[in-house]
Formats: sequence, C-alpha cells, structure tokens
Amino acid sequence: MKKNIAEIIDVSNEVYEKGLVSGKAGNISARFGEVVAITPTLKSLYNLSQEDIVLVDMDANVLTKGKPSSEVNMHLEIYKRRPDVQAIVHTHSPYATGFAFSNKKLKRLEGFGAIKSPYLSDIEYEKPGSDELAKSAGEGLGDEDVLILKNHGVICVSDSLKEAMLLAVFVEETAKTQFITHMLNSVEDGD
Ligand SMILES: [Zn+2]
Repeated sequence: MKKNIAEIIDVSNEVYEKGLVSGKAGNISARFGEVVAITPTLKSLYNLSQEDIVLVDMDANVLTKGKPSSEVNMHLEIYKRRPDVQAIVHTHSPYATGFAFSNKKLKRLEGFGAIKSPYLSDIEYEKPGSDELAKSAGEGLGDEDVLILKNHGVICVSDSLKEAMLLAVFVEETAKTQFITHMLNSVEDGD
C-alpha cells in the first residue's frame, strides 16, 4: 500500500507541475480492492506527504487520519459503477475547463483510446462536493474515460494512475489545439 500511496503523490506532483491544477484545486484517487486512497481536502496537490493521503472504504468511512477531498463521493460513485476503473484524476486544466465554461463542445481527437463518439461527454453544472454532482458524474461518465463537468472541470478515469494522468494531459493538449483552431478560424485572411 505504501508504494501505491507513493504513486498517488508522484502523480499529484506531476499533475500540478504540468499546470493541470493550481492552488488547492483538483483531486486524485486510486482503488485497492475495497479501499480507495484519495488526496485530502483543502491542500494543494503539490508536495503531499504519505500522511496526507486519506483511505476510505466504499461507503466513504474514513479509515485514516485527515479529511478526504470534498469530491470523495464523486470518486466512489464512479468506482461503484465501473469495476474496470482503478484510478481517477480530476482537474480544472485551463483550456479544457475553458471549453467547459463555454458553449463549445470538445472533440475527441485521435491519439488516446478509441473514439466512440465525436465529442467528449459532458454533464450540466452541479455544486462541487454535492451528492447531485456525484450521481450525475457517475451516470454521465457511462463507459467513457473522460467527462467534462460544465462550468467546473474534467474527470479522467483509467485502470492505472499513470494512464489516468496521461489522459488528463492529452485532453488538455487537444483542448488547447481546438482553442487555437477556433481562434485562427475567427481571423480574416489578410490578403
Ligand atoms: Zn473540481
């Protein structure tokens, strides 16, 4: 378990250093059987220590010291619905979240996983930390690996922490590309 917690810390640092979260935003978790290890509430993802990572059971009972992320129920809801999911990375990465605040949909671009639908799934805004958000995110994700939370951020899921993190990086990069495309398409040719 120590090794697994060390991986959450590594991935948290990487997510922060890549600019996918800032301040105290974002949360990351991984499942180990019936136990979920999750980043704490009200702490930056940068430079977490082993003691900061909180263990909870599937009913959200806290098994260690500390207080889990306020989105713990959203993570648990996804794990309960998706036995294949072993790790969840939730970010507010700027370009993807910019799309989440706009009326533009994000396309699923080539390069990571199968393209099942042309656009990434999204759900309407629910209050962060609420049961409504947990339920809506679980339903909205379905069998996809990315979910856009309108006016909020992004959820990426996978069978490993590393893959979920790489997916979050990929989604942000494709959002940036699509942002640049929208900008260029809005400029008149100067001839
Ligand atoms: Zn959030």
